[in-house]
Amino acid sequence: MRRVCVTGGAGFLGSHLCDRLLREGNDVICVDNLFTGSKDNIRHLLGEPYFEFIRHDVINPIYVECDQIYNLACPASPIQYQRDPIYTTKTSVYGTFNTLGLAKRTGARILQASTSEVYGDPECHPQPESYRGCVNTIGPRSCYDEGKRIAETLFFDYHRKHGVDIKVMRIFNTYGPRMDKGDGRVVSNFIVQALKNEDITIYGSGEQTRSFCYVDDLIDGMIRLMNSRDGFTGPVNIGNPGEFTIKELAEIVIRLTDSHSKIIYKPLPQDDPTQRKPDISLAQKELSWKPAISLEEGLKRTIEYFRKIL
Ligand code: NAD
Ligand code: UDP
Repeated sequence: MRRVCVTGGAGFLGSHLCDRLLREGNDVICVDNLFTGSKDNIRHLLGEPYFEFIRHDVINPIYVECDQIYNLACPASPIQYQRDPIYTTKTSVYGTFNTLGLAKRTGARILQASTSEVYGDPECHPQPESYRGCVNTIGPRSCYDEGKRIAETLFFDYHRKHGVDIKVMRIFNTYGPRMDKGDGRVVSNFIVQALKNEDITIYGSGEQTRSFCYVDDLIDGMIRLMNSRDGFTGPVNIGNPGEFTIKELAEIVIRLTDSHSKIIYKPLPQDDPTQRKPDISLAQKELSWKPAISLEEGLKRTIEYFRKIL
């Protein structure tokens, strides 16, 4: 039985990862300080004999024994990571030092949940892993974007200097059940607004694009990357290459929820990327991975979840 440590395991993606790892017969240690995550996300796992929750802040060192580490601890939605931007950077930098130190001591393989935000507001479309990005160093998104970029740097330096066995995954916008209804991300915002027949808030013209991946597809890609061949480090893009404008997303959500909501327009936040779409050819080649769930199907499942919890 493999012992797997998941930092950020009580968050949206982390809790789905814990579910899947337990289903596959692993012994799971979930490390989380509940900054944006919640015990509700893992409540159903708390009595499981092979699941352990440790309330811990990764900016402090952690001593556990494990064979694999998934490093997901970091607030991910713009509202949450901008709430305390200095703490966000601390989490990405000190947290990554500490989890890499854990990997070095235990010899565990370690996977970093990096992000499409390392590409910033991209001048190249779609974005392949070789694209180096266009990121503002001093804007409101920088704490997250630059934190994730230095985390990638640390991963590769620990790999080169200390032989740590690393995997770096660049995650594109992912959605699904257990998104926090108040964290301001576009899919949860639109669904909650539509179900309450409130105005749907589009920021800017709504012509900016995003590519939305359903959580089950994403977790599948994450596990494939962790268990990929020796020597394949990534970085590798994992996301759904279907590209939609935010206005299209709003219209689909209104249709699927039979909502009476109207669309209203609000100012576009500073440095909001104008377009984003992953080139997933590397994931297809190395991991035999591509997403299987369409946006409509994934939205239907997510809407069902929000109907239940609202
Ligand atoms: P989330 O906010 O739901 O989960 C993050 C988890 O990390 C939370 O449970 C939070 O409490 C925990 N955490 C934050 N700071 C911590 C700290 N200092 N110590 C311990 N735990 C801490 O977000 P998510 O969407 O599940 O994202 C998970 C990871 O995936 C993040 O690293 C994020 O940057 C990355 N990611 C997510 C997306 C996406 O679309 N969901 C896209 C790109 C990258
Ligand atoms: N967005 C929007 N209305 C909302 C929330 C978000 O129009 O109520 C827009 C946001 O400006 C961005 C896109 O939707 O252009 C995706 O936002 P999200 O915060 O989900 O993720 P990110 O910007 O990090 O990709």
